[in-house]
Amino acid sequence: MTDIETKCIHEGWKPSQGEPRQLPIYQSTTFKYDTSDYMGKLFDLEADGYFYTRLQNPTNDAVAAKICALEGGTAAMLTSSGQAANFYAIFNICESGGHFIASSSIYGGTYNLFGTTMKKMGIECTFVDQTLPAEELEKYFKPNTKAVFGETITNPTVSIFDFEKFANLAHKHGVPLIVDNTFATPINCRPFEWGADIVTHSTTKYMDGHAACVGGCIIDSGNFDWMQYADKFPGLTTPDESYHGITYAEKFGKGAYITKATAQLMRDLGSIPSPQNSFYLNMGLETLHLRMKKHCENALAVAKYLKSHDKIAWVHYADLEDDEYHNLAEKYMPHGTCGVLAFAVKGGRKASIAFMDKLKLASIATHVADSKTCLLHPASHTHRQLTDKQLAESGIEPDLIRLSVGIENISNIIEDLKQALE
Ligand SMILES: *Cc1c(COP(=O)(O)O)cnc(C)c1O
Repeated sequence: MTDIETKCIHEGWKPSQGEPRQLPIYQSTTFKYDTSDYMGKLFDLEADGYFYTRLQNPTNDAVAAKICALEGGTAAMLTSSGQAANFYAIFNICESGGHFIASSSIYGGTYNLFGTTMKKMGIECTFVDQTLPAEELEKYFKPNTKAVFGETITNPTVSIFDFEKFANLAHKHGVPLIVDNTFATPINCRPFEWGADIVTHSTTKYMDGHAACVGGCIIDSGNFDWMQYADKFPGLTTPDESYHGITYAEKFGKGAYITKATAQLMRDLGSIPSPQNSFYLNMGLETLHLRMKKHCENALAVAKYLKSHDKIAWVHYADLEDDEYHNLAEKYMPHGTCGVLAFAVKGGRKASIAFMDKLKLASIATHVADSKTCLLHPASHTHRQLTDKQLAESGIEPDLIRLSVGIENISNIIEDLKQALE
């Protein structure tokens, strides 16, 4: 068994004799073939091979294969953004007239996608309080429910998802559990080991790690048996007329879900990353294990510092021993959660904003989870489109500051926070 640190470096692109050591960028839209017959087989999904980068590209595929190996999945695909990844992950199995359940404590962009845009497509999402007991959550399942969705570590409230509770519920009702593992990354948590069936990522965050490229990824564990619930998932279990009558679950087995998402959704909606961006993503992945360790170390030191400061109202960071999510974090992420924490300055919304404007090293940025320390105030930035009621439902206090601790020297980070607080 190769350990995850080695996988970060060696999985994906595996050069043979005389080939480039580093992943080549196949900056090409098309691929050449000698016979028209062979090309026809590619279109029928009868033969393996590249023909058009909107469907597949060797650079993109090598990076998808690396992330697949890190998560312990059976198939994966890259998308042009985390938003596209979450949209495809649901839409691949839940169409107009379908319903799914999502935790209400999720990234603001995903909340909008699920609650507003997908609603216009005739797909209904019920947002649930993820801290409710299983018996309460059970009531939200309907005959047309197709999936359950949550985030390993929620953005921006940094609460921890209870995998076992949700996996048991989803499976009891014959639907897959889909988990956005962006903040934890497979270094700190591998949701498939806890019963999740499909994992998504915004690779824009820690995986890229340098705030260079927007991107996403979907990984399938291959564990969900679509045929067992054939009536619920006709898209996978009945012939696809737009692909010459192929039945994905029959023809591709454990690869069915990703093959359908590629052959159908990517073909028609086209949210592909550029091979150049995938190259950068691969560079980020090579150091993911080193960076996650440092992010966690720094964030814990910052959390302890803030917690002890008399101008700080509260701190949420699950690696703190007295945090309400510490037990779940210990269980699912014993080596640390991530570098993101949430806190508030005493004096409410106004004081929190005044403090932010005084920072010198840490920048105010609509970003999170990269090498540079940055922060934002969700109520006035990322979540400003939400009403107060929706904010409350998402568990976001109006004074909450989301701090993404970078990998600078820890004394410099704390020094900066200290001068701003004073
Ligand atoms: C940023 C983010 C997304 C959206 O990803 P983009 O790459 O910005 O499209 C989805 N989920 C989580 C948890 C995120 O942090």
